[in-house]
Amino acid sequence: MKRIYLDYAATTPTHPDVVKAMLPHFSDSFGNPSSIYSYGQEAKGAVEKAREQVATLIGAREEEIVFTSGGTEADNSAIEGVAFANPERNHIITSTIEHHAVIETCTFLERRGFEVTFLPVDKDGLVDPDDVQKVITNKTCLISIMHANNEIGTIQPIKELATIAREAGVYLHTDAVQTVGQVPVDVDDLGVDLLSMSAHKLYGPKGIGALYIRKGTKLVPFMHGGGQERNRRGSTENVPGIVGFGKATEIALAVMTGEIERQTRLRDQLIKSILKQIDGVRLNGHPTKRLPNNVNVSIDYVEGESMLLNLDLENICASTGSACSSSSLEASHVLLALGLGHEQAHSSLRFTVGKWTTEEDINRVMEVLPRIVTRLRAMSPLLKSRK
Ligand code: PLP
Repeated sequence: MKRIYLDYAATTPTHPDVVKAMLPHFSDSFGNPSSIYSYGQEAKGAVEKAREQVATLIGAREEEIVFTSGGTEADNSAIEGVAFANPERNHIITSTIEHHAVIETCTFLERRGFEVTFLPVDKDGLVDPDDVQKVITNKTCLISIMHANNEIGTIQPIKELATIAREAGVYLHTDAVQTVGQVPVDVDDLGVDLLSMSAHKLYGPKGIGALYIRKGTKLVPFMHGGGQERNRRGSTENVPGIVGFGKATEIALAVMTGEIERQTRLRDQLIKSILKQIDGVRLNGHPTKRLPNNVNVSIDYVEGESMLLNLDLENICASTGSACSSSSLEASHVLLALGLGHEQAHSSLRFTVGKWTTEEDINRVMEVLPRIVTRLRAMSPLLKSRK
């Protein structure tokens, strides 16, 4: 039976052309970019080409891109980097629905004496810029609000937040791990000072990402070591990973318009069919300000985990909450922040479509899912107690 992968927000398969571009850098072209002989300079050239490709995708200058080990490191570096570089200001503003990479960095800083404001979101997952305006003080050093949420797909009003940040002289960081390569992202258009990216969300390899740092931003380097990345991140560069990331950004740019149109159609087809064929369903996330590939629903009286296991038996991969928390039984902090009760949060299911998703895949899900829901509901003690 064909495996149907509908968890592209967790990770994406590496594009064959990306693998092809990476391969020589494991063998023939293995040099250390810091070495001055030709092997090294070849590797350095490959890294710089990739830097240019990544910068082009987000409208940045090459020298504003620092390669990291992924989105998590980019988030940590941005937040801690600004916090420690601006000692006269000790206040950070973020939201309750950020990825753990941001939330845990902020709570770490809280324990170190920083003050952190976790802003609430509305029922669709949107941060209200007026709320940011209200809590900003002359002690605020950073606002960190994600571009789009990985669980519910809601896209935040980053441009409006940038206007507020700029007027107050506060840095703005956005975790754009779920948007870079999926939808247009331009750092000048958004007005951000720092932006996190991760290659494995855009058909690149795992373990490589980047932080965009606007020229002039005061930041303490996160990794101390050799002088790599213009003294902003020590450690020998992950050359194959960087080359793969660059290639993935080039492909993303070339296919983006068509993919947005195609994935939006598949997304809407799935949302419409679920709402029509299954009763007691709530669509989580904003109905229109959402990623082209994200479907997140709560299905009354069925547990997300049970649905996942049953879908897996049918060779369909989906997710409840984010991949990193799906192994824990805690309800998603994102869904709780929308105002959902624990029951509804535990009954959530996320499908994320991607490059290799077809209409037949969606039809197959709709052949299987209603049956699974009916079977699980028939066994639900909760539903029986409500009748
Ligand atoms: N931020 C968001 C919004 C994500 O979705 C993820 C990955 O799930 C990360 C950060 C972490 O990225 P990485 O896996 O590259 O560390």
